[in-house]
Amino acid sequence: MIFIEVALDLPLNTLFDYQCDEATPDDIGRRVKVPFGRDEKVGVILNVKDHSTLPLDKIKKATTLWRDVPPLSEEILRLLHFTSHYYQHPLGPVVLHALPPALKKTNDWQAPKKRSKAINVAVTSAPQLNLEQRHACDEINQHDDEFRIWLLQGITGSGKTEVYLELVRQTLGRGKQVLILVPEINLTPLIEQRFQARFPATGMVSLHSGVGEKERAQRWIDVASGKIQIVLGTRLAIFAPLDHLGLIIIDEEHDSSYKQAEGMRYHARDLAIMRGQYNAIPVVLGSATPSLESWWNAKQGRYQLIKLTERAHQGATLPDIQLIKANLKHDSPTLSLEIIHAIEERLTKGQQSLIFINRRGFAPVLMCNQCQWLATCPDCQTRLVVHRRQQRLRCHHCNYQRPIDHHCRQCHSEDLTTLGEGTQKIEESLQELWPKARILRIDSDSLQSKSWATQIQDIHAGEVDILVGTQILIKGHDFPKLTLVAAINVDSALYSSDFRASERLFTQLLQAAGRAGRGSDKGQVLIETAFPQHPLFEALIDHDYQRFADNELEERRLFGFPPFCYQALLRGSATELSPLQQFMREAREALKRLSYEDITLFDVVAPTLHKIGNKYRLQLLLQCHSRPLLQQALSQWSDYLFTHAPHSVNWVIDVDPIDC
Ligand code: ADP
Ligand code: ZN
Ligand code: ZN
Repeated sequence: MIFIEVALDLPLNTLFDYQCDEATPDDIGRRVKVPFGRDEKVGVILNVKDHSTLPLDKIKKATTLWRDVPPLSEEILRLLHFTSHYYQHPLGPVVLHALPPALKKTNDWQAPKKRSKAINVAVTSAPQLNLEQRHACDEINQHDDEFRIWLLQGITGSGKTEVYLELVRQTLGRGKQVLILVPEINLTPLIEQRFQARFPATGMVSLHSGVGEKERAQRWIDVASGKIQIVLGTRLAIFAPLDHLGLIIIDEEHDSSYKQAEGMRYHARDLAIMRGQYNAIPVVLGSATPSLESWWNAKQGRYQLIKLTERAHQGATLPDIQLIKANLKHDSPTLSLEIIHAIEERLTKGQQSLIFINRRGFAPVLMCNQCQWLATCPDCQTRLVVHRRQQRLRCHHCNYQRPIDHHCRQCHSEDLTTLGEGTQKIEESLQELWPKARILRIDSDSLQSKSWATQIQDIHAGEVDILVGTQILIKGHDFPKLTLVAAINVDSALYSSDFRASERLFTQLLQAAGRAGRGSDKGQVLIETAFPQHPLFEALIDHDYQRFADNELEERRLFGFPPFCYQALLRGSATELSPLQQFMREAREALKRLSYEDITLFDVVAPTLHKIGNKYRLQLLLQCHSRPLLQQALSQWSDYLFTHAPHSVNWVIDVDPIDC
């Protein structure tokens, strides 16, 4: 008798034995249909063996062993084992995650009758690379058969994509395949066209959640069958079954969308590095504003730094960045005169303006208008968050709280303001100011990926005068008519309770600035702030990423934040609060009992969004200076959690959290 060990998509830390006499070791990685309870499930074979430790009458027979689709390769399985181990996520769901949804259904796979049509794009030839680009390509190519991590830090518009294209060309020339990751779905159509235009005869697919289910599965099969040389995709493409990888590129490597924010919380960039290592190939991380983690790795010599310091397009220069003094007192959402004049000027010239509103989930903080004192937690020095309804200040780190102060604790003034509220009506006031202007508002809420492609076309065609939006608008686009970027409501990030807020703000502002003046008209960037002397802005007006990053790293070092420590977060959620509270408390006690003295264990707190839908949420942060120690503790701890968590509570361990 032959038995198979099967991975199933269940939140349990086990594999399941079935009998399957036709199975051979070659079937490892293949899909099977198996009975489960009264149901059937699709699983993946991870082992084939001639005995089982279970009693025979407990072992059921597999229903179908599918051999019509290529199995998950050894390399992918290795990556999945690593992912499961590193992110403390059960192996079953991790393995199933690597399959496209249509291949996880219990019916037989049927190839789509009609394939989605490839867009016809005019073939383009490569421009003559400039010296910096040439140098970057040569450096990387000299080490094309080694595992090395290259951090390509190139200012916006410096021609990073041209560097990627050249590296891809050379990799294809060696008969190898390429995997390119981009942050978001809305970026893929344009970059896809750019690659297609350059490599018209090469098999290429894009993989992201916007592709229809059948089509996506078929593309996945094409990749697994070796028909595809270039895979372009979002974070989920990190598991693309390429067997002859020669190069991995992560564009905009700082982007937070590489981190999956629910379920299995993996970071595609970090997994890319593992794949690079397994295959002994270069991994190129590109960004104008690398994440501080990557920057620190480059400074330490773990990554190789290559810089592109000039804009590549003939005649294009970096825009001037000017700060505009915002009036703190007025809570009324009005645009400052400078911005109004600047927009007016663009409207007359037929150019485009972009208003960037920074308003992603920043919690409001309390500040003194006289001495700029900020209410901070006496225990952990992070900003206290204003909770208006309860009239309290709360630390989201350790749960310290007190009533909202009425006097400044430094100068006793009563002149206190809450930063981070207001200004949301900007969009409406724009329309009042210029009733005839064509205003396009775009943010992640209003955005549907399908219409985005058309909206981009509209912007290119000059059918939009003013763009208003959040981060989504500033990612990697190249709008030649756009010459003005104005950023408002940015200050709350400077004093946020989240230690990553200033990194995000700097990145966003520099990326936003990078949208202006990419054609031959010079760009202008206006930033409204009450704190023009803040070091972040001093670095920003000089377009000096490095100065900012080095300063910020010093601060992180001082406070012992990542990358100078490693963090993990236990996130729990439940429809009722009290079992959740009890579970979190017990989890904390359990970790304490493991007595890892070097691990700092914070209190159980509610995250900024403490209730989503009908679910309460609580979290527990731990940090440690040693990654292996933290990993060891986490795996012991998660064994406990798996056996002790009540059914009413959902929990997940978020390793290297980026929002806590
Ligand atoms: P990035 O990816 O760094 O933002 P891109 O690769 O998109 O930059 O290049 C910015 C612009 O400069 C594009 O319009 C591109 O066609 C152009 N460009 C890039 N490299 C060159 C070059 N060597 N010569 C001329 N134009 C170039
Ligand atoms: Zn004061
Ligand atoms: Zn605190």
